[in-house]
Amino acid sequence: MKPIYLDNNATTCIDPQVLECMMPYLSNEYGNPSSMHFFGGKINRKLNEAREQIADIINARPDEIIFTSCGTESDNTALMSTLECYPQKPHIVTTRVEHSAIMNMCKYLSRKGISVTYLPVDRNGMIDLNQLEDSISESTAIVSIMFANNETGVVYPIDKIASITKAKGAVFHTDAVQAVGKIPIDLSKIPIDILSLSGHKLHAPKGIGVIYVRKGTRFKPYIIGGHQEHGRRGGTENVASIVGLGEACRIAKDCLEIENTQVKHLRNKLENTLLEIIPSSIRNGHKTSRLPNTTNISFEYVEGEGILLSLNEYGICASSGSACTSGAIEPSHVLRAMGVPFTAAHGSIRFSLSRYNTEDEIDKVIEVMPSIIERLRAISPFWKK
Ligand code: PLP
Repeated sequence: MKPIYLDNNATTCIDPQVLECMMPYLSNEYGNPSSMHFFGGKINRKLNEAREQIADIINARPDEIIFTSCGTESDNTALMSTLECYPQKPHIVTTRVEHSAIMNMCKYLSRKGISVTYLPVDRNGMIDLNQLEDSISESTAIVSIMFANNETGVVYPIDKIASITKAKGAVFHTDAVQAVGKIPIDLSKIPIDILSLSGHKLHAPKGIGVIYVRKGTRFKPYIIGGHQEHGRRGGTENVASIVGLGEACRIAKDCLEIENTQVKHLRNKLENTLLEIIPSSIRNGHKTSRLPNTTNISFEYVEGEGILLSLNEYGICASSGSACTSGAIEPSHVLRAMGVPFTAAHGSIRFSLSRYNTEDEIDKVIEVMPSIIERLRAISPFWKK
C-alpha cells in the first residue's frame, strides 16, 4: 500500500533528482575532499558547489556555511560555541516551545550553572516581544528562538526578534530546521548571527545539517578534530549527502512558490473542512503566521494515539501532539506551553504536507476522519453522548 504521507515535519522523502546527484559520490567519486591529489580536489570543488547552492537559498555567503551531521548538532553547536566565546555572559534566552535539540541542551547547561530564561507563549503560540526585550541583559550571551515551530508550524517574527536581540548586544541564533525550503529567508535583510538547518526536512537525506555563521560572529568548534570546514568542524565531510543537500536547496528555492500556493491550498482545504465537519475540533497555533504545510488540530475527548492507529489502517501517516513519558501519555511541551486544555491537547494531530501530496490524498483524509472521531468518541468516557 502506498502511504498517504502527511508527516513531512518528521522527515521527507528524498527527491529523485537529489538521489541521482548523490549516486556518483556513493560509488566512483569516493575521494576525500581534504586530499591534495586531483581525485580529492575534484570532490572539494563539488562540496563548494553545494555550499554555494545552500548559501543561495538563505541569501548567505558560501564561506558562512559549515556542514554538520544534523539539525541537532547545529543547534547544540550554536549554544556551546557562543557560551564558550563569551565566558563572562552565562545566560541564555529561549522559549518554552523549542525543539528538544535546544530544550534539552538548555536543561543540560543549567545543570552546569548556566542560567536560562524560557519565554512563555500565548494561546496562539506567540511570544511577547516586550518580554523578550526585558529578558535580555548584559550577561546574556545568546538568544535562541526558532524560525518556525515543528508541531504547530507557527512562524515567529524573526526580523523583529533578531533586531531586538542585536540592539541589546547578544548573539542571535535561530533554529530554522522547519522553515528552510518552506518560506523565503533572506539573511541579507535579517540580522541573524547563527542559523541551523537540516537536510531531511527538505527532501535531502537524513544525517546532514548546516550551521550558518555570519561573517564576523565569534565561533569555536564544537566537534574538535581535523582542519575540515576551515577548522570550524572536525570530521571528514559526508560528501554524498552534502551534494544531495545542495541539489535539494536548489530545487526547494524553485519550489517556494509551489509551497505557498499548491501546498498551502491543500493544507487549508484539509484544515478548514475538518474544523467545519467535526464538532469540538480546534486549530492549535496562529492562523496566519504559520508554515504553509502544517496544521495541528485537537479533537476534544479522544486520544491522539487512537486517531493515529485508525488513520494507519487507511495507510495515512500523521503524528500526534503527545508522547509516552514514563509510562503515561503526556501532551507535548509545546501544547502545554500554549495552554491548550488537557482534554484537547490529548487529542491533537499534526498533519504536515509536502509538494508530493495530491488533492485525492487530502480528500481521502477528509472522508475518513469524521467516522474515526465519532467511533472513538463513542467509547470515550468523557464525551457528552
Ligand atoms: N529543530 C527542529 C525545529 C526540528 O523539527 C528538528 C527535527 O525534527 C530538529 C531541530 C532536529 O533536526 P535533526 O533531526 O536533523 O537532528
